[in-house]
Amino acid sequence: MRTVIEPFRIKTTEPIRLTTRAERAVALQEAHYNVFLLDAEDCCIDLLTDSGTGAMSTAQWAAMMMGDESYAGSRSWKHFEQTVRDITGFDHILPTHQGRAAEGILCETLVKPGDLIPNNSHFDTTRANIEYVGGRAINFLCPEGLSTQDESPFKGNMDVAALEACIQQSGAEKIPFCMLTVTNNTGGGQPVSIANVRAVKAVLAAHGIPLVIDACRFAENAFFIQHRDPDYADKSLLHIARELFALADAATMSCKKDGMANIGGFLACRDADWATRFRNLLILREGFPTYGGLAGRDLEGIAVGLREALEESYQVYRHATITYLSRHLSEMGIPIVQPPGGHAVFLDAKRFARHLPAEGYPGIGIVNALYLEGGIRAVELGSVMFARRDADGREHPSPLELVRLAIPRRVYTQSHFDYLIEVIASVWQRRDQLPAHRITWQPDFLRHFTCHFEPQQGQHLQ
Ligand SMILES: *Cc1c(COP(=O)(O)O)cnc(C)c1O
Repeated sequence: MRTVIEPFRIKTTEPIRLTTRAERAVALQEAHYNVFLLDAEDCCIDLLTDSGTGAMSTAQWAAMMMGDESYAGSRSWKHFEQTVRDITGFDHILPTHQGRAAEGILCETLVKPGDLIPNNSHFDTTRANIEYVGGRAINFLCPEGLSTQDESPFKGNMDVAALEACIQQSGAEKIPFCMLTVTNNTGGGQPVSIANVRAVKAVLAAHGIPLVIDACRFAENAFFIQHRDPDYADKSLLHIARELFALADAATMSCKKDGMANIGGFLACRDADWATRFRNLLILREGFPTYGGLAGRDLEGIAVGLREALEESYQVYRHATITYLSRHLSEMGIPIVQPPGGHAVFLDAKRFARHLPAEGYPGIGIVNALYLEGGIRAVELGSVMFARRDADGREHPSPLELVRLAIPRRVYTQSHFDYLIEVIASVWQRRDQLPAHRITWQPDFLRHFTCHFEPQQGQHLQ
C-alpha cells in the first residue's frame, strides 16, 4: 500500500482544549505577544519543541511499572546499560537527567580555558557548556547547509577542509575533542552522512583528537542514511547506528529526543580514564553512577524507547508526517526550508512576510498569527533568538529568519496535520497584513524566552 499509517493505535487520550479566536487574542495579549509565556492549555497544537514532548508506548509504560528503585546496581540500570551498550558499543555508560548534564560533565572534565571545540553546528546548550568553562565553540558546517533551497542529501555535514585548516592553525593540543551533531538540530535537523563522519574521523585520528557524537537524533539520522546513501539501503537502522558510533570515542545524548522518553540522557565513552573522571563529576552533580539523576522507572522507559526509535515502521511513519506537511505547504507556494529535516518543518519568514524588515521580527509576526488563527504554538528562530547586539544596544540581524514547527513523536494524527496546514494556509493568504513587532522589554541574555512584544501601532490582525 502507498498510504503510510500511524503504526500504533491510541489507548489513552489527552483532551485538547479548543479555544475561540477571542480567547486566544486575550491569552496572547496577556502573554505579552510571546508564545513562550502562554499556558500550554491555551495551545491547541503545541509545536514549540520535539524535546520530551513525545508519547510513550504500552511497552514503555509496562517497563516503567517494573522500575527497580534501588539506590545502587538496580535491575533497571542493567537494562539501560545493556541497551545503550548494544546500540552504541561504548564500554562506559553514565546516565544523566538530560542531555545538557552530559555536556556539562564532558566539558568541565576535558575543556580548558582557550581550548577550541569544533562541531558541524553546536546546539545552544553545548555551546553554553563549552563557553562556561572558557572554551570556544566553533561551527564548520558544509557550505550547502547554509542554503535554504539547496537539495543536497546531507546538509548537516561538517566542512572537513575547514576542520583540517583549523587544526593546522591552532594545533591539535588546543582541541581536546571535536563534536558532530546528528542530526544537525541548529542546522534544521539535516542529516550527517556516514562518509562525512568517516572523513572527519580520519582527519582527527591523524592528529590524535577524539570524536564525540551529539547523538540526540541518531535514529532519525540512521533513517536518512538508509534512504539517501545507496550503500546502506539494505542495512537495518540498528546496523547503521552501530556503524556511526563505532567511528566515535564518546557520545552525549538527550533521551528526550530519540530516547522516546519525557526526560533522561547519557554520556558514554570508550576510554577508561575519561570514564573515571566523568564518574567523579557525575556523582557530584547527578547521582550515583547507576541512576545518575533518573528514577529506575525512567531508565526502563528509555531502554525500551531507544529500541523503538530504531524500528523501521516507526521511522517510516515519522518521516512521512514531516514529508506530508512540507509537501502540502510547498504545493501552496509557501516558502519552507528544503529539503525538510528530521524533526521539524521550517517556514522561511523572510520570504513569507516580504513586507517586514528584520527589525520588525517577521518570524514573530508569523508565530503570533498562527496562534491567533488556530491555536498553533510554533517558535521563531531568527533575529529575536540570534541577533547580535552591540554594547550600545544596536542589533545585527540574524542571516536567517525562520519559524520552526517541531513535531512531537507519536502525538498528533493526520487530521491534526490537516488542520495545521489549513491554519498556515489561512495566515499565508493574508500575509500582507502581518504586523511588525517591537520589543518592549527584554532581559540581558536568552531574551527570546521571556521578552515582551507589541504589535506595531496601526497594524493588527483582523
Ligand atoms: C536537545 C538537545 C541537546 C540538549 O539536551 P537536553 O535534554 O535538552 O538538555 C543537545 N544537543 C542537541 C542537538 C539537542 O537537540
